[in-house]
Amino acid sequence: MARKVLVLGEVRDGQLRNVSFEAVSAAKTIAEGGEVVGVLLGESVNQLAEELIQNGADKVVVVEDEKLAQYTSDGFAQGLLAVVDAEKPEGLVIGHTSLGKDLSPRLASKLNSGLISDVTGIEVTGDNIIFTRPIYSGKAFEKKIVTDGLIFATIRPNNIAPLEKDESKTGEVSSLSVDIKDLRTIIKDVVRKASEGVDLSEAKVVIAGGRGVKSEEGFEPLKELAQVLGGAVGASRGACDAEYCDYSLQIGQTGKVVTPDLYIACGISGAIQHLAGMSNSKVIVAINKDPEANIFNVADYGIVGDLFEVVPMLTEEFKKLKVNA
Ligand SMILES: Cc1cc2nc3c(=O)[nH]c(=O)nc-3n(C[C@H](O)[C@H](O)[C@H](O)COP(=O)(O)OP(=O)(O)OC[C@H]3O[C@@H](n4cnc5c(N)ncnc54)[C@H](O)[C@@H]3O)c2cc1C
Repeated sequence: MARKVLVLGEVRDGQLRNVSFEAVSAAKTIAEGGEVVGVLLGESVNQLAEELIQNGADKVVVVEDEKLAQYTSDGFAQGLLAVVDAEKPEGLVIGHTSLGKDLSPRLASKLNSGLISDVTGIEVTGDNIIFTRPIYSGKAFEKKIVTDGLIFATIRPNNIAPLEKDESKTGEVSSLSVDIKDLRTIIKDVVRKASEGVDLSEAKVVIAGGRGVKSEEGFEPLKELAQVLGGAVGASRGACDAEYCDYSLQIGQTGKVVTPDLYIACGISGAIQHLAGMSNSKVIVAINKDPEANIFNVADYGIVGDLFEVVPMLTEEFKKLKVNA
C-alpha cells in the first residue's frame, strides 16, 4: 500500500545530520512506493532542501521563522504539526537523537498516535511493516507492527543505511507559513561544550576510555587513535565521574547510545549500564588488563594488556596501513 511519509531533516550548525538521510531511507521503506516528504524547520534552512531530495526525498516543505532558529519543543512541534496538518501523511519518521527523543512524544500525544521509538531495523513482510527495536537496555529486541493510525517512528542513528545520493534528482520545494507563537522558552544562545571532530552519536568509529585511562591526560593516546581512524572519543561513566573527561562523552544507559562500525573500549570493565549504550556496535574490540573483565563477554576481539602500550601500537599500525593504502 503506497503511503505518504514525512521525514524531519535535522539541522545542526547549518548542516543536515546524517541521521536525516537514514530517516529518508526508513521513510522510503514505510512509503512502499508512495511519497517521501522532507520537512525542514529553522531560520534559513531552505538551501538544504536540495540535499534532502538528492538523498531520496520526493519533495520538501520548508517552515522558516526566526523563532525556529534554535530548537524548542514548543516551536518545532507547532511547525511540524502544521506540516502534518497540510500534508496529511500516513507515516512520520524522525531521528532518535536528543532532538527526536524530546520532540516525538509531544507530537505523538498531540496527534493522538502511537510511537515506535529507537527503531534499529525495518522490513516489509507481506502486508506488514515490521519494526525492530532494542528493549531491556539492549539485552533483547522486540518486533512491532502498527495496526491502526499514523505510522510514527524514531530511528536510531547508524542503523538504517541511507539511500545512495543522486545529484541529478530534483523535486518540488515549497514553503509553509506557520504562526509560531506562545513559546514558553526562548533560547538566546547555545554554547556548545568544546567537542573536537566527529559527532559521537553518528561516528562510524568510537574509541572509548574508562577509569583505566587514569587521568585527563590518559585520554590523549585515545584521541590520537580516534584521529587516525576518523572516529570520535567516548567514555564510561567511571571516567566521567573521575573527572577525566566531560559527561557529554558518556556512553551507556544514562549516556549516549552508539552503534558504530567499530567500538574500541580501553580500560572499561563492561558494567551492564555501559553495555546498554554500545553492545549493538558492529565490531567491538576490548583492551583491558584484567582477562576476567566483563567487557570481553561482548567483544569480538579482546586484547589483554595495558592500554598505554596497546593503544599507541594500534595507532602506529593504522598509520602505516593508511600510508600503504
Ligand atoms: C543507575 C546507573 C546508571 C549508570 N549509567 C552508566 C552509563 O550510562 N555508562 C557507564 O559507563 N556506566 C554507567 N553506570 C556506572 C557503571 O555501573 C560502572 O560503574 C561504570 O561503567 C564503570 O566504569 P569503568 O568501566 O570505566 O570503570 P571500572 O569498572 O573501574 O573499570 C576500569 C577497568 O579498567 C581496567 N584497567 C585499569 N587500568 C588499565 C590499563 N592500564 N590498561 C587496560 N585496562 C586497565 C580495569 O581492569 C577495569 O576493568 C551507571 C550506574 C548506575 C547505578
